[in-house]
Amino acid sequence: MDIEKLILDRIRDVNDYPKPGIVFKDITPLLADQAAFTHVVDAIVAHYGRGAVDKVAGIEARGFILAAPVAYHFGVGLVPIRKKGKLPWQTYEKSYDLEYGTETIEIHRDAFRPGERVLIVDDVLATGGTAQAAAELVRQGGGDIVGLSVLMELAFLDGRARLGNLDIHALVTV
Ligand code: AMP
Repeated sequence: MDIEKLILDRIRDVNDYPKPGIVFKDITPLLADQAAFTHVVDAIVAHYGRGAVDKVAGIEARGFILAAPVAYHFGVGLVPIRKKGKLPWQTYEKSYDLEYGTETIEIHRDAFRPGERVLIVDDVLATGGTAQAAAELVRQGGGDIVGLSVLMELAFLDGRARLGNLDIHALVTV
């Protein structure tokens, strides 16, 4: 089965969540399907290739779910990028606009060794604000970004435009 169909068939559109006008992409049916989940994780790892990444950075919260098995299969460590106030040690922080509100995210200052090659992972690329902020945090922390991997890119929101020449790997684009 092709991966796009595998993913699209298992992402549920929830209208007007969390706010009127937003169509929320619910990935829980995909996560609950062992074959689909495995396929997605393998596709991300295969795209970049083992040996190409030193750390995987997952964006809270759904990004963590994907980033953890991806890091495991790369054989590398995981770095959480979290909502403000959740990380216990010294952090860098960045605020940005969301498709539905504003947000501040943080990363530990000692998350990377200088020049480590970092793959950022999240579920959905929408307006690109989250990914842009995450990329700035990774760079601030001394990481060298290999790319951004997402399950789904919402092309009509043109998040890509905010991300400069960042390599964006979207398994599905709608
Ligand atoms: P953005 O910063 O606009 O690119 O939004 C991306 C972040 O918000 C990701 O962490 C997504 O999990 C979440 N997000 C934004 N829009 C949606 C959506 N329509 N469905 C599901 N998650 C979304």
